[in-house]
Amino acid sequence: MACIFCKIINGEIPAQVVYEDDSTMAFLDINPHSFGHTLVMPKKHFVNFEDTPGDVLAATMMTVKKVGRSLKDNLGVSGYNVYENNDPVAGQIIPHLHFHVIPRHENDGLEFWPQLKYGVGEAEAILSKIKIN
Ligand code: 5GP
Ligand code: ZN
Repeated sequence: MACIFCKIINGEIPAQVVYEDDSTMAFLDINPHSFGHTLVMPKKHFVNFEDTPGDVLAATMMTVKKVGRSLKDNLGVSGYNVYENNDPVAGQIIPHLHFHVIPRHENDGLEFWPQLKYGVGEAEAILSKIKIN
């Protein structure tokens, strides 16, 4: 298996492990957005969000929650972002599902996304395409 995260999970490549249980692992990102930036993933290899069964996602999110709690309790951070890059167009470089947990501090200058405005009728047009019945 060429997947670098599977190699970390199997102990073939070292990592700074924040938390581990039977089905999930959390370790420090090698190039953090902020110190304490942690990657949380299932131990079993799934490429992206839709590929991953619900029970595995649920276990992974419980680990995200534990990591967030530890960042707040032990690093004194004010909050954190949780994100997942889903597919290469969205910036996913490692094709093994993982959630980024990013510690945030007041005025840390980390800016993420632009905010657009819908023109007349545009929101309704989008909604008519993606609404799930
Ligand atoms: P993605 O863009 O796929 O959502 O994020 C991949 C993340 O994995 C990046 O933030 C990158 O810094 C991190 N990363 C890549 N290779 C390694 C590695 O070998 N060890 C660790 N700890 N993190 C890695
Ligand atoms: Zn993998």
